[in-house]
Amino acid sequence: MLKIIVGREPESRQLKLKCGKTTKLMGNPGSVPNSVSREHVAITVDEDADRYFIENLKPANEVLVNGISVMKREVGLGDLINLGGDRYPVRVGDIVSSFVKEKVDISHLEWIYNNYRDTVLKEQKKAQRVNLFRTISSLLTTSAIASGIVLRDVLENNPIYPVLYGAALIIMLGITIWTFMQSNNPQKNRDRQDRFLDEYSCPKCGISFGQQPFKQLMKRGKCYNCGVQFKKIR
Ligand SMILES: [Zn+2]
Repeated sequence: MLKIIVGREPESRQLKLKCGKTTKLMGNPGSVPNSVSREHVAITVDEDADRYFIENLKPANEVLVNGISVMKREVGLGDLINLGGDRYPVRVGDIVSSFVKEKVDISHLEWIYNNYRDTVLKEQKKAQRVNLFRTISSLLTTSAIASGIVLRDVLENNPIYPVLYGAALIIMLGITIWTFMQSNNPQKNRDRQDRFLDEYSCPKCGISFGQQPFKQLMKRGKCYNCGVQFKKIR
């Protein structure tokens, strides 16, 4: 939890931001009118929940948020505040970013990761099925040859012989075509992986998070490359 006191610095007439023992000045000297108090509003930052609140520090102070007069309320980083009768404008985000490190939202990466992992798992299961059918088809071939040799005398003048072999041939052909159609297209797999590596990346610096599971990323809390912090997901 951080509290930033915002007001006018009387000497330079800049915007003064005070947070604990740190003071920072914003804007050009002389830019802040006297209608802004020395301690005009407080912005409270709840870092864990990523929430921001504004509080008017004196009832006599005029404070507008997006054009509406307020005493105390929750605000967003994009909200525009106007201070004092002259309505000195400043963005909540500009005040907060002076003291709080930037955070990026990576919640969309959860879906990208899960979706890719599910697809890869499905492909692996399909590959298993294809392998099973290949094994069956080679067993059939072997047994057909073996039975042809062993049962030669029995089958020789039997009219069922060509029917049996014809049927076996059709089954084999079917299995071969089916497994061929089912087998993974390496180009498609590579394209999918490339797309994943591209999408599953840091919104700030663009580096790919590769095969790091989403949960691990959130546990780490920041990008290993540029160090930007990730917003917690509520
Ligand atoms: Zn990064």
